[in-house]
Formats: sequence, structure tokens, C-alpha cells
Amino acid sequence: MAVTQFSFDVRVIVPPHTKLKKFFEELEKGKIMGTKCKKCGKLYFPPQADCNKCLSSDMDWVEIKGTGKLITYTVTHVAPKAYTNIAPYVIGVAQLDEGPKVTAWVRDIKPEEIKVNMKVKLVTEKCEDGITRYILKPEG
Ligand SMILES: [Zn+2]
Repeated sequence: MAVTQFSFDVRVIVPPHTKLKKFFEELEKGKIMGTKCKKCGKLYFPPQADCNKCLSSDMDWVEIKGTGKLITYTVTHVAPKAYTNIAPYVIGVAQLDEGPKVTAWVRDIKPEEIKVNMKVKLVTEKCEDGITRYILKPEG
């Protein structure tokens, strides 16, 4: 999935691909899963059904540890209609220690306290709208 960091749509995190259904099932249980190519070892998060690097479709599910650092972020003061009650909110891009970059909400920290390069961790959280998402939280 191509995600440009500032047009990130918080409603759709992963395309509703049947092969990736497991991702949502595990997310509900509090586990964040990525896919790893069995052929070349490349790790994908968000998970992908096929490897872009070697074009293999032989992928394994792996649990993401989710530690990393924040590369960039943006504070949204004017939210889409469905999110006006939780604005302002922060969307950040983190570089995970495991390799992939991830775009997600940054929560549990005031926008003015967020710093680039701060340590973050990807965790699951049941949001105000009842949907369980992966989000970034400050770590340490
Ligand atoms: Zn591969």
C-alpha cells in the first residue's frame, strides 16, 4: 500500500484483502502482525500478501515488536467529520527497529511534547469509535 505521510486516512489502515484478514483478527487480540517473505526475508508492515522485492507470494506471518523512533509527525487540528471530537490529533511516521516505516496516530502524549527522534512503540488500542488500531506511543 502506498501511503503518503500527510494524506494518511485514519479509517483505512490496510486494504481489505482476504489474505490479510488474519491481520485484523490478531489486532483485535492485541497482536501486531507483519508479513515476512520466505524467499528473501524482507519484512512488511503493514503486511503485504506479495513481496515487492522478489515477487514471491510465499509469505509468513510474524509478530511485530514495534519499537522504533519517530521520523516525522503532523498535528491535525481540523479533522475529518468523524474525528472532530478527538482533534487535535497527531499522525506520525516511525522507523521501526525491525526495518519497516509505519504511519499511525501518535497518542498518549501532548502534541507539544512530541519530538522527532523520540523513542516510540507500536501498540494496539481500541479507539473511541470502537475500532482497534495500531498506534504509536512514546516509550521510556
Ligand atoms: Zn521476497
